[in-house]
Amino acid sequence: PTAIEAIDLVKDYGRGDGAVHALRGVNIRFGKGRFTAIMGPSGSGKSTLMHTLAGLDGTTGGRIIFDGADITRLNDRQLTLLRRRQIGFIFQSFNLLPMFTAEQNIIMPLTLAGNKPDRAWFDMLVDTLGLRERLGHRPNELSGGQQQRVAIARALISKPSIVFADEPTGNLDSLSSAEVLSFLKQSVRELGQTVIMVTHDAVAASYADRAIVFADGRIVADQADPSAEAMS
Ligand code: ADP
Ligand code: ADP
Repeated sequence: PTAIEAIDLVKDYGRGDGAVHALRGVNIRFGKGRFTAIMGPSGSGKSTLMHTLAGLDGTTGGRIIFDGADITRLNDRQLTLLRRRQIGFIFQSFNLLPMFTAEQNIIMPLTLAGNKPDRAWFDMLVDTLGLRERLGHRPNELSGGQQQRVAIARALISKPSIVFADEPTGNLDSLSSAEVLSFLKQSVRELGQTVIMVTHDAVAASYADRAIVFADGRIVADQADPSAEAMS
């Protein structure tokens, strides 16, 4: 089963002679429950792919099929709804609210929407991410790795179909990175999440079960981990 698919996806910034061709006809399908790393040099189009797939940026051509529909045809209001209900984001800089506890940060997307957390799901996330003893702490009382795990729980709290992670270990030392990535990998496996992660770091990419390499707006390599292939 497919979580999201790009068909002949084109994205230009600007027009005419000065246009930047950020995506030059990208075809890619992301399977449900898979953890994919997107690699490639700075300026190769990784962020643009993620932003267009997430409906944050408009497209110049092609289609993005999500849940059987082409989301490039949705208006801004429909895209906002789609993001709120179906998509989770994890950022390099955690983006936690400093005045709130870990627990309050985790449930913030629900609080903002006026909803209550599903307690069983909340408990499962907290235990999977090893945050049980940290729920009452504020971000400045947590290590970088713990803060990023809180951010992962927040990204997953609304049970999104897809989670986009933009350099999630970019601000972490190698020990915390390893910790965060193994928790992310475990969450994908145990909770059935689809994760698409942009990273510069080959070590980070090795936690994924598929790695795609971008260069100059095109996919130049696409390899699945043979052991992950065998599992699905
Ligand atoms: P990274 O290399 O970490 O993906 P970038 O420096 O490429 O980050 O981009 C950071 C932000 O600036 C992104 O939101 C991107 O869309 C925007 N950006 C990148 N290049 C340009 C540009 N030439 N003009 C305007 N905005 C840009
Ligand atoms: P990456 O994430 O791989 O660093 P990006 O997707 O950020 O690459 O950028 C791809 C290309 O598009 C680069 O040439 C970048 O400068 C350009 N770009 C990105 N965002 C913008 C923007 N908002 N305006 C103009 N150019 C941009």
